[in-house]
Amino acid sequence: MPAMPNDLVSARRWPPVAGRRDLACNPDNASAFYSPDSRGFSDYSRALALCWRCPARRPCLAWALDTEQRHGVWGGTTPTDRAAMLTDRAALADLARE
Ligand code: SF4
Repeated sequence: MPAMPNDLVSARRWPPVAGRRDLACNPDNASAFYSPDSRGFSDYSRALALCWRCPARRPCLAWALDTEQRHGVWGGTTPTDRAAMLTDRAALADLARE
């Protein structure tokens, strides 16, 4: 798994966002998507609205889940949303093994 980006600008240089200046979460606009400090960021409403119109939403979410991104908005989801999805994914994988 890749190391966690530790600031908002470098976070938005990671795939699938890297080099996509056309996306709402480009580095110039990253503060809406990524917590500015370690205490977290509670109002992601603007970022979530932008994500839902984004052409990269599906691969973005898949990447964020696969790499377990724990901070910021990716693919129209908050960290809490993704934690729940990962829990569900693990439970489904357990069921499939039974
Ligand atoms: S879905 Fe959201 S976080 Fe992902 S690339 Fe699009 S705007 Fe950025």
